Amino acid sequence: MSQSYETVVTHVEYESPDAHGALTMPIYQNVAFEFNDAERMHLAFAGKSGGHAYSRITNPTVSNFERRIKTVKKAMSVTAVNTGMSAIAGTLLSLCKAGGNVVTSKHLFGNTISLIRDTLGPFGVELRLANLTKPDEVEASVDSKTCAIFLEIITNPQLEVADLKALSEVGKRHGAPLVADTTVIPFTEFDAKGLGVAIEIFSSTKYISGGGTSLGGVIIDYGQFGWKGHYRLAEKASSAGAFAFTATLRGHVARNVGLVMTPQVAYMHSLGLETLRIRFRHQSATAKRLAELLRGEDFVRRVNYTGLEDNAYHTLATRQFGEAQGAVLTFDLAGGREACFGLLNRLKLIKRATNLFENKTLAIHPASTIFGTFTPEELAEMDVSEETIRISVGLEDAADLIEDIRQAAKEA
Ligand SMILES: *Cc1c(COP(=O)(O)O)cnc(C)c1O
Repeated sequence: MSQSYETVVTHVEYESPDAHGALTMPIYQNVAFEFNDAERMHLAFAGKSGGHAYSRITNPTVSNFERRIKTVKKAMSVTAVNTGMSAIAGTLLSLCKAGGNVVTSKHLFGNTISLIRDTLGPFGVELRLANLTKPDEVEASVDSKTCAIFLEIITNPQLEVADLKALSEVGKRHGAPLVADTTVIPFTEFDAKGLGVAIEIFSSTKYISGGGTSLGGVIIDYGQFGWKGHYRLAEKASSAGAFAFTATLRGHVARNVGLVMTPQVAYMHSLGLETLRIRFRHQSATAKRLAELLRGEDFVRRVNYTGLEDNAYHTLATRQFGEAQGAVLTFDLAGGREACFGLLNRLKLIKRATNLFENKTLAIHPASTIFGTFTPEELAEMDVSEETIRISVGLEDAADLIEDIRQAAKEA
């Protein structure tokens, strides 16, 4: 019988014994590591000994965090960096080159769209938008210069779900890997590799950290993509094979750009890993209960949560990600921005703040904040409505949360 997630993740061994037998992997705060002789120093710098040389390249505390995820997911490699955005940036910097394109959805985290369009665009990378819920349409957008098909597994705040397996098949036919931002459903819950995901990335700032303690990001390479026909990595594949992506990311992109997770963050996120699944399932159950309760309120026009049985994406989301579908839900109020602001201003327990999967429940009006720089036409195009409030459910009880929302609606 295979051991549970918690048993495995809390017992991953250190790569070498700790001098003091510390029960929890210590924070190796230092930058440099000493060598007994020049030969070993040479091997470490060449990446041939597994030894640590300089913390921008590798660090024991960070390696331990990476190895815990690698062990649980049986992945080929895991790379931890300083934010979710740097995980996405590092991935695309390793996959793209001038003349290439990234096929993705208009329903995407604002910074990710901007990264491709505004940051990578001037280097000759094209942003191509397609409806990712329609694999045929995606296939029409993909060509031999597609560096990646990029998606978020449940988009925010639209809560749209695409068929990962179908998209990975489209990609395979054109040499393009499926890259999935899985921030909203942790890796403990589903088999991204089995669904055809080549590279999985997530913001560990969110569910992993637990309580929103610190920023971090993770890149998982499952080693299952054949890079030989890839627009950027085909040449690298002739020497590195399945490692073509990781060799590029770790061999120069991460170290040249300075994408590193700091040891303190690796320590905190390692602790977060231990309680991840317990927190996620609890918060998902609360979110589902809150969604059901909100639906019974007459001031609510619509509730969006994929965990509700009559949600358009419920069947697909359940098949891909399982029963627990995360702690993000949205609800719409008649009366647009004014009504939303009125309710938000009267909340007493729920915090007005932006983050996902804190231990505290948070509420935000996406159209005026996260998407505040977009025009009304762009918002309509992205299906971000003025009537929508987004809730990130924390560890509190659903009864306490609905009570707060009810009193705020009544006052408003
Ligand atoms: C928050 C978030 C990011 C960015 O993560 P940071 O750690 O804030 O850089 C990327 N994708 C999704 C889906 C997110 O929710």
